[in-house]
Amino acid sequence: MDMDLPSQTQLPEDILLQMRIAPVPRYLRSLFSRLPDGISLDLELPPDARQPLPQAARQLIKLGLLSGWIACRASVSAMAPRLCVRRAGHCFVPTPQDFAKGISHVARALLDALLTRTELSDLIERLAFQSSTLASLRALTTSMLQADDVDQALYIMLSGLTSGDALGFNRAILFVFDEATRSFVGAKAIGPIDEAEARRVWEAVELEDKGLDDVIADVEERHIDTRFQQTIQKLSFPAERQPRLHELLCESSGPLVLERGELLALLSQPLDLDLADELIVTLLRPHGTLLGAVVADNRYNGAPISPEQRDYFGLFTDQTALAWENLALLKRVELLAREDTLTGVLSRRELEVRMGIEFARCRRHGRPCSLLILDIDLFKQVNDTQGHAAGDAMLRALGALLCRSLRADDVVGRFGGDEFVVIMPEIGEPQALLVARRLGAAALGEGISISIGGACWPQHVEGPEALFQHADHCLYEVKRQGRTGVAFAQGAISRFDAAVGQR
Ligand code: GH3
Ligand code: MG
Repeated sequence: MDMDLPSQTQLPEDILLQMRIAPVPRYLRSLFSRLPDGISLDLELPPDARQPLPQAARQLIKLGLLSGWIACRASVSAMAPRLCVRRAGHCFVPTPQDFAKGISHVARALLDALLTRTELSDLIERLAFQSSTLASLRALTTSMLQADDVDQALYIMLSGLTSGDALGFNRAILFVFDEATRSFVGAKAIGPIDEAEARRVWEAVELEDKGLDDVIADVEERHIDTRFQQTIQKLSFPAERQPRLHELLCESSGPLVLERGELLALLSQPLDLDLADELIVTLLRPHGTLLGAVVADNRYNGAPISPEQRDYFGLFTDQTALAWENLALLKRVELLAREDTLTGVLSRRELEVRMGIEFARCRRHGRPCSLLILDIDLFKQVNDTQGHAAGDAMLRALGALLCRSLRADDVVGRFGGDEFVVIMPEIGEPQALLVARRLGAAALGEGISISIGGACWPQHVEGPEALFQHADHCLYEVKRQGRTGVAFAQGAISRFDAAVGQR
Protein backbone atom coordinates (compact mmCIF):
# COMPACT_ATOMS: atom_id res chain seq x y z
CA MET A 1 0.00 0.00 0.00
CA ASP A 2 1.38 3.38 -1.00
CA MET A 3 0.53 6.63 0.69
CA ASP A 4 1.04 10.15 -0.66
CA LEU A 5 3.06 12.62 1.33
CA PRO A 6 2.10 15.98 -0.10
CA SER A 7 3.89 17.81 2.65
CA GLN A 8 6.70 17.12 5.01
CA THR A 9 4.35 17.20 7.96
CA GLN A 10 2.97 13.85 6.77
CA LEU A 11 6.35 12.15 6.91
CA PRO A 12 6.70 9.74 9.80
CA GLU A 13 7.72 11.64 12.92
CA ASP A 14 11.08 9.92 13.33
CA ILE A 15 12.04 10.58 9.65
CA LEU A 16 10.97 14.20 10.04
CA LEU A 17 13.18 14.59 13.06
CA GLN A 18 16.14 12.87 11.35
CA MET A 19 15.66 15.21 8.41
CA ARG A 20 15.40 18.37 10.47
CA ILE A 21 18.74 17.73 12.11
CA ALA A 22 20.49 16.75 8.86
CA PRO A 23 22.87 19.58 7.88
CA VAL A 24 22.57 20.55 4.21
CA PRO A 25 25.31 22.69 2.62
CA ARG A 26 23.99 26.01 1.33
CA TYR A 27 25.51 25.59 -2.13
CA LEU A 28 23.52 22.40 -2.59
CA ARG A 29 20.31 24.15 -1.59
CA SER A 30 21.08 26.83 -4.15
CA LEU A 31 21.87 24.19 -6.81
CA PHE A 32 18.74 22.11 -6.10
CA SER A 33 16.49 25.18 -6.12
CA ARG A 34 17.63 25.77 -9.72
CA LEU A 35 16.89 22.26 -11.03
CA PRO A 36 14.24 21.94 -13.76
CA ASP A 37 10.61 21.17 -12.84
CA GLY A 38 9.04 17.73 -12.79
CA ILE A 39 11.31 15.99 -10.31
CA SER A 40 9.71 13.86 -7.62
CA LEU A 41 11.11 11.88 -4.78
CA ASP A 42 9.72 8.55 -3.62
CA LEU A 43 10.62 7.27 -0.25
CA GLU A 44 9.88 3.63 0.53
CA LEU A 45 9.93 2.72 4.17
CA PRO A 46 9.18 -0.66 5.72
CA PRO A 47 6.37 -0.29 8.30
CA ASP A 48 8.61 -1.25 11.19
CA ALA A 49 11.75 0.54 9.99
CA ARG A 50 13.39 1.88 13.04
CA GLN A 51 17.03 1.93 11.98
CA PRO A 52 18.23 5.45 11.09
CA LEU A 53 18.63 6.38 7.41
CA PRO A 54 22.18 7.13 6.20
CA GLN A 55 23.15 10.80 6.64
CA ALA A 56 23.32 11.42 2.86
CA ALA A 57 19.81 9.94 2.46
CA ARG A 58 18.44 12.27 5.09
CA GLN A 59 20.16 15.18 3.39
CA LEU A 60 18.70 14.19 0.03
CA ILE A 61 15.15 14.02 1.45
CA LYS A 62 15.64 17.41 3.06
CA LEU A 63 16.92 18.89 -0.21
CA GLY A 64 13.97 17.37 -2.05
CA LEU A 65 11.45 18.87 0.31
CA LEU A 66 13.22 22.25 0.41
CA SER A 67 13.15 22.28 -3.39
CA GLY A 68 9.43 21.67 -3.46
CA TRP A 69 9.47 18.11 -4.84
CA ILE A 70 6.23 17.60 -3.03
CA ALA A 71 5.29 14.42 -4.87
CA CYS A 72 7.08 12.65 -2.06
CA ARG A 73 5.60 9.22 -1.41
CA ALA A 74 6.33 6.47 1.05
CA SER A 75 5.67 2.78 0.45
CA VAL A 76 5.04 0.73 3.52
CA SER A 77 5.38 -2.57 1.61
CA ALA A 78 9.15 -2.20 1.19
CA MET A 79 11.53 -4.57 2.93
CA ALA A 80 14.24 -1.93 3.45
CA PRO A 81 14.35 1.86 3.14
CA ARG A 82 14.64 2.88 -0.52
CA LEU A 83 14.87 6.31 -2.13
CA CYS A 84 14.00 6.99 -5.73
CA VAL A 85 14.21 10.34 -7.53
CA ARG A 86 12.16 10.40 -10.74
CA ARG A 87 11.88 12.67 -13.70
CA ALA A 88 10.25 12.13 -17.11
CA GLY A 89 10.59 8.34 -17.20
CA HIS A 90 14.06 8.35 -15.65
CA CYS A 91 14.68 7.11 -12.17
CA PHE A 92 17.69 7.58 -9.95
CA VAL A 93 18.02 5.14 -7.04
CA PRO A 94 21.10 5.85 -4.95
CA THR A 95 22.78 2.71 -3.67
CA PRO A 96 24.07 2.27 -0.10
CA GLN A 97 27.56 2.77 -1.64
CA ASP A 98 26.41 6.11 -3.11
CA PHE A 99 25.12 7.23 0.26
CA ALA A 100 28.37 6.11 1.89
CA LYS A 101 30.28 8.52 -0.40
CA GLY A 102 28.31 11.51 0.89
CA ILE A 103 25.71 14.00 -0.31
CA SER A 104 27.98 15.76 -2.84
CA HIS A 105 28.53 12.47 -4.64
CA VAL A 106 24.79 11.66 -4.50
CA ALA A 107 23.93 15.12 -5.87
CA ARG A 108 26.37 14.71 -8.78
CA ALA A 109 25.04 11.23 -9.61
CA LEU A 110 21.47 12.61 -9.48
CA LEU A 111 22.31 15.41 -11.95
CA ASP A 112 23.99 12.90 -14.30
CA ALA A 113 21.00 10.58 -14.21
CA LEU A 114 18.14 13.04 -14.53
CA LEU A 115 19.33 16.07 -16.52
CA THR A 116 20.06 16.26 -20.22
CA ARG A 117 23.36 17.72 -21.43
CA THR A 118 21.57 20.89 -22.49
CA GLU A 119 19.96 21.24 -19.08
CA LEU A 120 23.33 20.73 -17.43
CA SER A 121 24.99 23.43 -19.53
CA ASP A 122 22.06 25.73 -18.86
CA LEU A 123 22.45 25.13 -15.15
CA ILE A 124 26.19 25.79 -15.26
CA GLU A 125 25.61 29.01 -17.16
CA ARG A 126 23.03 30.23 -14.69
CA LEU A 127 25.25 29.43 -11.73
CA ALA A 128 28.20 31.15 -13.40
CA PHE A 129 26.01 34.22 -14.04
CA GLN A 130 24.93 34.14 -10.43
CA SER A 131 28.42 33.90 -8.99
CA SER A 132 29.97 36.56 -11.23
CA THR A 133 27.00 38.89 -10.78
CA LEU A 134 27.08 38.48 -7.03
CA ALA A 135 30.83 39.18 -6.95
CA SER A 136 30.30 42.35 -9.01
CA LEU A 137 27.36 43.46 -6.91
CA ARG A 138 29.41 42.93 -3.77
CA ALA A 139 32.21 45.12 -5.16
CA LEU A 140 29.70 47.77 -6.20
CA THR A 141 27.88 47.71 -2.87
CA THR A 142 31.20 48.13 -1.07
CA SER A 143 32.16 51.16 -3.13
CA MET A 144 28.61 52.52 -2.73
CA LEU A 145 28.95 52.28 1.04
CA GLN A 146 32.32 54.03 0.85
CA ALA A 147 30.96 56.82 -1.36
CA ASP A 148 31.47 60.36 -0.03
CA ASP A 149 28.09 61.62 -1.06
CA VAL A 150 24.67 60.48 -2.17
CA ASP A 151 25.25 61.51 -5.80
CA GLN A 152 28.26 59.26 -6.11
CA ALA A 153 26.47 56.30 -4.49
CA LEU A 154 23.53 56.70 -6.87
CA TYR A 155 25.74 56.83 -9.95
CA ILE A 156 27.50 53.69 -8.76
CA MET A 157 24.11 52.00 -8.56
CA LEU A 158 23.21 53.09 -12.10
CA SER A 159 26.61 51.95 -13.36
CA GLY A 160 26.10 48.58 -11.69
CA LEU A 161 22.73 48.17 -13.36
CA THR A 162 24.15 48.97 -16.79
CA SER A 163 27.66 47.51 -16.60
CA GLY A 164 28.13 44.28 -18.54
CA ASP A 165 30.12 42.97 -15.57
CA ALA A 166 27.11 43.31 -13.31
CA LEU A 167 23.46 43.37 -14.41
CA GLY A 168 24.05 44.53 -17.97
CA PHE A 169 20.85 46.51 -18.65
CA ASN A 170 21.05 48.88 -21.63
CA ARG A 171 19.80 51.87 -19.61
CA ALA A 172 19.02 52.70 -16.00
CA ILE A 173 17.12 55.71 -14.70
CA LEU A 174 16.66 57.13 -11.23
CA PHE A 175 13.61 59.18 -10.30
CA VAL A 176 13.80 61.06 -7.02
CA PHE A 177 10.57 61.41 -5.05
CA ASP A 178 9.97 65.10 -4.35
CA GLU A 179 7.98 65.39 -1.12
CA ALA A 180 6.79 68.94 -1.85
CA THR A 181 5.09 68.09 -5.16
CA ARG A 182 4.69 64.36 -4.38
CA SER A 183 6.18 63.63 -7.79
CA PHE A 184 8.79 61.27 -9.17
CA VAL A 185 11.25 63.61 -10.86
CA GLY A 186 13.85 62.38 -13.38
CA ALA A 187 17.22 62.89 -11.69
CA LYS A 188 20.03 60.65 -12.94
CA ALA A 189 20.42 58.23 -15.80
CA ILE A 190 23.06 56.13 -17.48
CA GLY A 191 22.63 54.84 -20.97
CA PRO A 192 23.20 55.75 -24.62
CA ILE A 193 21.04 58.53 -26.07
CA ASP A 194 20.29 56.51 -29.22
CA GLU A 195 21.07 53.33 -31.15
CA ALA A 196 24.23 54.68 -32.82
CA GLU A 197 25.56 55.80 -29.46
CA ALA A 198 24.71 52.38 -27.98
CA ARG A 199 26.80 50.65 -30.66
CA ARG A 200 29.66 53.05 -30.15
CA VAL A 201 29.62 52.51 -26.37
CA TRP A 202 29.57 48.72 -26.72
CA GLU A 203 32.43 48.76 -29.19
CA ALA A 204 34.42 51.04 -26.92
CA VAL A 205 33.73 48.81 -23.90
CA GLU A 206 34.91 45.75 -25.85
CA LEU A 207 37.96 47.52 -27.27
CA GLU A 208 39.04 49.03 -23.99
CA ASP A 209 38.10 45.86 -22.10
CA LYS A 210 36.64 47.96 -19.32
CA GLY A 211 36.09 46.15 -16.07
CA LEU A 212 34.13 47.04 -12.99
CA ASP A 213 37.03 48.94 -11.45
CA ASP A 214 37.16 51.24 -14.50
CA VAL A 215 33.43 51.81 -14.25
CA ILE A 216 33.71 52.78 -10.57
CA ALA A 217 36.71 55.01 -11.32
CA ASP A 218 34.70 56.75 -14.06
CA VAL A 219 31.94 57.50 -11.56
CA GLU A 220 34.41 58.78 -8.99
CA GLU A 221 35.97 61.07 -11.55
CA ARG A 222 32.51 62.07 -12.79
CA HIS A 223 33.18 60.82 -16.35
CA ILE A 224 29.54 60.37 -17.18
CA ASP A 225 27.83 61.08 -20.48
CA THR A 226 24.90 63.25 -19.46
CA ARG A 227 22.94 63.49 -22.72
CA PHE A 228 20.49 60.74 -21.86
CA GLN A 229 20.28 62.14 -18.33
CA GLN A 230 19.29 65.56 -19.69
CA THR A 231 16.30 63.95 -21.44
CA ILE A 232 15.35 62.18 -18.22
CA GLN A 233 15.57 65.36 -16.16
CA LYS A 234 12.65 66.78 -18.14
CA LEU A 235 10.36 64.01 -16.85
CA SER A 236 8.13 64.32 -13.81
CA PHE A 237 5.30 62.04 -12.69
CA PRO A 238 3.00 63.22 -9.89
CA ALA A 239 2.19 60.09 -7.85
CA GLU A 240 -1.48 61.07 -7.47
CA ARG A 241 -1.94 61.34 -11.24
CA GLN A 242 -0.94 57.69 -11.80
CA PRO A 243 -2.64 56.11 -8.78
CA ARG A 244 -2.77 52.57 -10.21
CA LEU A 245 0.92 52.48 -11.04
CA HIS A 246 1.82 54.00 -7.67
CA GLU A 247 -0.39 51.51 -5.85
CA LEU A 248 1.03 48.59 -7.83
CA LEU A 249 4.59 49.62 -7.00
CA CYS A 250 3.82 50.25 -3.34
CA GLU A 251 2.11 46.88 -2.95
CA SER A 252 4.84 44.92 -4.72
CA SER A 253 7.43 43.45 -2.37
CA GLY A 254 10.12 43.61 -5.08
CA PRO A 255 10.72 44.91 -8.60
CA LEU A 256 7.98 44.71 -11.23
CA VAL A 257 8.61 43.69 -14.81
CA LEU A 258 6.12 45.53 -17.02
CA GLU A 259 5.47 45.41 -20.73
CA ARG A 260 5.58 48.72 -22.57
CA GLY A 261 1.83 48.68 -23.25
CA GLU A 262 1.08 47.84 -19.64
CA LEU A 263 3.14 50.78 -18.40
CA LEU A 264 1.67 53.24 -20.88
CA ALA A 265 -1.83 52.16 -19.82
CA LEU A 266 -0.92 52.83 -16.18
CA LEU A 267 0.36 56.33 -16.92
CA SER A 268 -2.13 59.17 -17.18
CA GLN A 269 0.24 61.43 -19.08
CA PRO A 270 2.19 61.11 -22.32
CA LEU A 271 5.70 59.73 -21.98
CA ASP A 272 8.37 61.52 -23.96
CA LEU A 273 10.76 58.55 -24.04
CA ASP A 274 11.36 55.57 -26.32
CA LEU A 275 10.74 52.41 -24.32
CA ALA A 276 11.91 48.83 -24.74
CA ASP A 277 9.31 46.06 -25.02
CA GLU A 278 9.61 45.43 -21.32
CA LEU A 279 11.15 47.26 -18.41
CA ILE A 280 11.81 46.69 -14.77
CA VAL A 281 10.88 49.17 -12.07
CA THR A 282 11.11 49.32 -8.30
CA LEU A 283 10.67 51.86 -5.54
CA LEU A 284 13.54 52.84 -3.26
CA ARG A 285 11.86 52.72 0.12
CA PRO A 286 14.31 52.08 2.97
CA HIS A 287 12.43 51.58 6.23
CA GLY A 288 9.22 52.72 4.54
CA THR A 289 10.50 56.19 3.56
CA LEU A 290 9.90 56.76 -0.15
CA LEU A 291 13.11 58.13 -1.69
CA GLY A 292 12.60 57.40 -5.37
CA ALA A 293 12.19 54.83 -8.11
CA VAL A 294 14.61 53.02 -10.40
CA VAL A 295 13.75 51.91 -13.92
CA ALA A 296 15.91 49.83 -16.28
CA ASP A 297 15.37 48.36 -19.72
CA ASN A 298 17.10 46.78 -22.69
CA ARG A 299 16.08 49.36 -25.26
CA TYR A 300 18.91 48.61 -27.70
CA ASN A 301 19.53 44.87 -27.69
CA GLY A 302 15.93 43.94 -26.85
CA ALA A 303 17.07 41.17 -24.48
CA PRO A 304 14.28 39.84 -22.25
CA ILE A 305 14.61 40.44 -18.51
CA SER A 306 15.46 37.12 -16.86
CA PRO A 307 14.19 36.05 -13.41
CA GLU A 308 17.80 36.24 -12.14
CA GLN A 309 18.17 39.79 -13.46
CA ARG A 310 14.95 40.69 -11.68
CA ASP A 311 16.11 39.18 -8.37
CA TYR A 312 19.51 40.87 -8.47
CA PHE A 313 17.95 44.16 -9.53
CA GLY A 314 15.84 44.00 -6.36
CA LEU A 315 18.77 42.97 -4.18
CA PHE A 316 21.00 45.73 -5.51
CA THR A 317 18.43 48.52 -5.42
CA ASP A 318 17.55 47.53 -1.83
CA GLN A 319 21.22 47.96 -0.88
CA THR A 320 21.29 51.29 -2.69
CA ALA A 321 18.22 52.49 -0.83
CA LEU A 322 19.93 51.73 2.50
CA ALA A 323 23.20 53.40 1.43
CA TRP A 324 21.20 56.44 0.25
CA GLU A 325 19.32 56.65 3.54
CA ASN A 326 22.55 56.34 5.56
CA LEU A 327 24.37 59.00 3.55
CA ALA A 328 21.42 61.38 3.75
CA LEU A 329 21.24 60.84 7.49
CA LEU A 330 24.97 61.44 7.85
CA LYS A 331 24.66 64.65 5.87
CA ARG A 332 21.82 65.87 8.09
CA VAL A 333 23.80 65.06 11.23
CA GLU A 334 26.88 66.81 9.82
CA LEU A 335 24.79 69.84 8.95
CA LEU A 336 23.26 69.88 12.42
CA ALA A 337 26.72 69.71 13.96
CA ARG A 338 27.98 72.49 11.70
CA GLU A 339 25.06 74.83 12.09
CA ASP A 340 23.64 76.57 15.11
CA THR A 341 20.01 75.52 14.92
CA LEU A 342 18.57 78.72 16.42
CA THR A 343 20.36 81.32 14.32
CA GLY A 344 21.57 79.43 11.24
CA VAL A 345 25.16 80.66 11.63
CA LEU A 346 28.01 78.19 12.30
CA SER A 347 28.01 76.21 15.53
CA ARG A 348 30.79 76.72 18.07
CA ARG A 349 32.36 73.41 17.05
CA GLU A 350 32.47 74.32 13.37
CA LEU A 351 33.59 77.85 14.21
CA GLU A 352 36.61 76.47 16.06
CA VAL A 353 37.44 74.23 13.09
CA ARG A 354 37.17 77.17 10.69
CA MET A 355 39.27 79.41 12.94
CA GLY A 356 42.09 76.86 12.72
CA ILE A 357 41.80 76.69 8.93
CA GLU A 358 41.60 80.46 8.37
CA PHE A 359 44.41 81.27 10.78
CA ALA A 360 46.71 78.70 9.17
CA ARG A 361 45.88 80.02 5.69
CA CYS A 362 46.57 83.67 6.63
CA ARG A 363 49.82 82.73 8.28
CA ARG A 364 50.88 80.61 5.28
CA HIS A 365 50.25 83.44 2.82
CA GLY A 366 51.36 86.20 5.19
CA ARG A 367 47.98 87.91 4.79
CA PRO A 368 46.24 89.84 7.60
CA CYS A 369 43.29 88.49 9.53
CA SER A 370 40.76 90.11 11.87
CA LEU A 371 38.40 88.71 14.45
CA LEU A 372 35.38 90.24 16.18
CA ILE A 373 33.51 89.01 19.25
CA LEU A 374 30.00 90.44 19.50
CA ASP A 375 27.87 90.19 22.63
CA ILE A 376 24.33 91.50 23.16
CA ASP A 377 24.14 94.08 25.91
CA LEU A 378 22.07 93.24 28.96
CA PHE A 379 20.51 90.32 27.16
CA LYS A 380 19.39 88.73 30.38
CA GLN A 381 17.00 91.64 30.84
CA VAL A 382 15.41 90.93 27.44
CA ASN A 383 14.75 87.38 28.54
CA ASP A 384 13.53 88.47 31.95
CA THR A 385 11.25 91.28 30.84
CA GLN A 386 10.06 90.13 27.40
CA GLY A 387 10.38 86.38 27.73
CA HIS A 388 12.68 83.72 26.36
CA ALA A 389 10.91 83.65 22.98
CA ALA A 390 11.63 87.36 22.48
CA GLY A 391 15.26 86.66 23.47
CA ASP A 392 15.42 83.89 20.85
CA ALA A 393 13.94 86.21 18.23
CA MET A 394 16.64 88.77 19.01
CA LEU A 395 19.38 86.14 18.62
CA ARG A 396 17.90 85.08 15.28
CA ALA A 397 17.67 88.70 14.13
CA LEU A 398 21.30 89.35 15.01
CA GLY A 399 22.40 86.11 13.27
CA ALA A 400 20.51 87.12 10.12
CA LEU A 401 21.94 90.65 10.24
CA LEU A 402 25.49 89.29 10.44
CA CYS A 403 24.92 86.87 7.57
CA ARG A 404 23.59 89.50 5.22
CA SER A 405 26.09 92.20 6.21
CA LEU A 406 29.32 90.26 5.74
CA ARG A 407 31.28 89.02 2.74
CA ALA A 408 31.11 85.43 1.56
CA ASP A 409 34.70 84.90 2.71
CA ASP A 410 33.91 85.97 6.26
CA VAL A 411 33.11 83.30 8.81
CA VAL A 412 30.23 83.88 11.24
CA GLY A 413 29.42 81.62 14.16
CA ARG A 414 27.62 81.60 17.49
CA PHE A 415 30.17 81.00 20.19
CA GLY A 416 27.54 80.46 22.85
CA GLY A 417 24.65 82.26 24.58
CA ASP A 418 24.43 85.80 23.15
CA GLU A 419 28.00 85.83 21.87
CA PHE A 420 28.88 85.71 18.15
CA VAL A 421 32.28 85.55 16.46
CA VAL A 422 33.23 86.91 13.03
CA ILE A 423 36.50 85.99 11.32
CA MET A 424 37.54 88.26 8.46
CA PRO A 425 40.43 86.85 6.45
CA GLU A 426 42.51 89.37 4.46
CA ILE A 427 41.13 92.30 6.51
CA GLY A 428 43.43 94.61 8.52
CA GLU A 429 42.69 97.07 11.30
CA PRO A 430 41.19 100.12 9.59
CA GLN A 431 38.68 98.08 7.58
CA ALA A 432 37.87 95.74 10.48
CA LEU A 433 37.03 98.72 12.67
CA LEU A 434 34.76 100.10 9.96
CA VAL A 435 32.99 96.77 9.64
CA ALA A 436 32.55 96.54 13.42
CA ARG A 437 31.08 100.04 13.60
CA ARG A 438 28.74 99.29 10.70
CA LEU A 439 27.54 96.07 12.37
CA GLY A 440 27.04 97.74 15.75
CA ALA A 441 25.11 100.58 14.18
CA ALA A 442 22.98 98.24 12.06
CA ALA A 443 22.12 96.21 15.16
CA LEU A 444 21.17 99.39 17.01
CA GLY A 445 18.96 100.23 14.04
CA GLU A 446 17.11 96.97 14.73
CA GLY A 447 16.80 97.77 18.41
CA ILE A 448 19.69 95.50 19.47
CA SER A 449 22.52 97.02 21.46
CA ILE A 450 25.76 95.07 21.19
CA SER A 451 29.35 95.42 22.32
CA ILE A 452 32.25 94.31 20.13
CA GLY A 453 35.80 93.40 20.97
CA GLY A 454 38.14 93.16 17.98
CA ALA A 455 41.68 92.10 17.12
CA CYS A 456 43.79 92.13 13.97
CA TRP A 457 46.85 90.15 13.07
CA PRO A 458 49.59 91.28 12.73
CA GLN A 459 48.67 94.70 14.24
CA HIS A 460 47.57 93.56 17.72
CA VAL A 461 48.88 90.07 18.31
CA GLU A 462 51.95 87.97 17.58
CA GLY A 463 50.08 85.16 15.90
CA PRO A 464 46.51 84.64 14.65
CA GLU A 465 45.93 82.08 17.43
CA ALA A 466 45.98 84.96 19.96
CA LEU A 467 43.26 86.95 18.12
CA PHE A 468 40.40 85.52 20.15
CA GLN A 469 41.95 86.26 23.53
CA HIS A 470 42.81 89.82 22.55
CA ALA A 471 39.30 90.47 21.23
CA ASP A 472 37.80 88.98 24.40
CA HIS A 473 39.79 91.39 26.56
CA CYS A 474 38.65 94.30 24.44
CA LEU A 475 35.02 93.15 24.69
CA TYR A 476 35.32 93.04 28.46
CA GLU A 477 36.69 96.57 28.35
CA VAL A 478 33.74 97.85 26.28
CA LYS A 479 31.27 96.16 28.64
CA ARG A 480 33.05 97.70 31.61
CA GLN A 481 32.96 101.13 30.09
CA GLY A 482 29.27 101.35 29.29
CA ARG A 483 28.60 98.99 26.32
CA THR A 484 27.21 99.84 22.82
CA GLY A 485 30.64 100.25 21.27
CA VAL A 486 33.71 98.59 19.88
CA ALA A 487 37.35 98.42 20.93
CA PHE A 488 40.40 96.91 19.24
CA ALA A 489 42.73 98.03 21.99
CA GLN A 490 42.44 99.00 25.62
CA GLY A 491 40.98 102.46 26.13
CA ALA A 492 40.13 102.95 22.45
CA ILE A 493 36.38 102.61 22.58
CA SER A 494 34.33 103.83 19.71
CA ARG A 495 30.55 104.24 20.26
CA PHE A 496 27.91 103.16 17.77
CA ASP A 497 25.54 105.52 16.13
CA ALA A 498 22.23 104.07 14.94
CA ALA A 499 22.15 106.62 12.13
CA VAL A 500 25.33 105.05 10.61
CA GLY A 501 23.60 101.66 10.38
CA GLN A 502 20.61 103.13 8.59
CA ARG A 503 22.65 104.85 5.93
P1 GH3 B 1 26.15 91.88 29.24
O1 GH3 B 1 25.74 93.17 28.65
O2 GH3 B 1 27.16 92.03 30.32
O3 GH3 B 1 26.54 90.88 28.21
O4 GH3 B 1 24.84 91.36 29.96
P2 GH3 B 1 23.98 90.12 29.57
O5 GH3 B 1 22.73 90.19 30.32
O6 GH3 B 1 23.87 89.99 28.11
O7 GH3 B 1 24.88 89.00 30.17
P3 GH3 B 1 25.36 87.72 29.49
O8 GH3 B 1 25.93 88.00 28.14
O9 GH3 B 1 26.23 87.00 30.44
O10 GH3 B 1 23.97 86.97 29.35
C1 GH3 B 1 23.77 85.96 28.47
C2 GH3 B 1 22.35 85.50 28.65
O11 GH3 B 1 21.92 84.88 27.47
C3 GH3 B 1 22.21 84.49 29.73
C4 GH3 B 1 21.26 83.45 29.18
O12 GH3 B 1 20.10 83.34 29.96
C5 GH3 B 1 20.91 83.97 27.83
N1 GH3 B 1 20.87 82.95 26.81
C6 GH3 B 1 21.85 82.09 26.50
N2 GH3 B 1 21.46 81.31 25.46
C7 GH3 B 1 20.20 81.70 25.14
C8 GH3 B 1 19.25 81.26 24.15
O13 GH3 B 1 19.50 80.37 23.36
N3 GH3 B 1 18.06 81.91 24.11
C9 GH3 B 1 17.76 82.92 24.96
N4 GH3 B 1 16.57 83.50 24.84
N5 GH3 B 1 18.62 83.31 25.89
C10 GH3 B 1 19.82 82.73 25.99
MG1 MG C 1 25.50 89.75 26.86
